[in-house]
Amino acid sequence: MGKILTICLMLTPGLAHAQVSRARAEVFEKTFEAVFEENLKEGDKTLDVELWWDREEVNATFEKWNGRFRVILYEGLLKRPGFDEDALAAVTCHELGHMMGGPPIWDVSSVETATNEGQSDYWAARECLPSVLKRIAASGAASTKTTAKACRSAKDAALCERIAMAGYKMVRTFKAVDNDDSPLSFETRDKKDARKGAIINIHPSYQCRIDTFLAGASGASRPKCWYNP
Ligand SMILES: [Zn+2]
Repeated sequence: MGKILTICLMLTPGLAHAQVSRARAEVFEKTFEAVFEENLKEGDKTLDVELWWDREEVNATFEKWNGRFRVILYEGLLKRPGFDEDALAAVTCHELGHMMGGPPIWDVSSVETATNEGQSDYWAARECLPSVLKRIAASGAASTKTTAKACRSAKDAALCERIAMAGYKMVRTFKAVDNDDSPLSFETRDKKDARKGAIINIHPSYQCRIDTFLAGASGASRPKCWYNP
């Protein structure tokens, strides 16, 4: 009997007005699976990306079962204003990061362990999105003056900016459905460091998640707002 692990990002009602069409999402699903098979394969494990239509939740989940891995994307996510394919890639990479992201490992339940939330974002930006975004046509403005500055030292500055913005669009979406009105910017940082010696395993603050995507995209170390061992 295999162990089952499910991690949810968030569960909230969605809005109308599609931002990523069903047809485009289906292409994305196949693209993501192909990238995983080429670059991320681990032994005999398999990955399925599933799109659950007519589900209004703004949500994504990840499951492990008998060495098989499944990312489920709910249609409500695709309908959010400003949510595009780059943001969809960020969400999918985050979910996959729970399996592939390495330590810090988080004991999420009595039956299974997984990469923690901050590391899943960091791995998404540093390892997963560089492979995936190259296969998806860029949509909209990929950079701001601030991401350009932070990405100046990155090997591929344009890709770094696009990854940081993909993370931003993902985080902005969850922040909006959470009715959180705190500032979110590349121009500031989450100033609240985790206690020295501590690693925060649950979702860090929205600003901290932006900091993490920018750090992963630019090759910087993990931000202390969740990682301060
Ligand atoms: Zn997560």
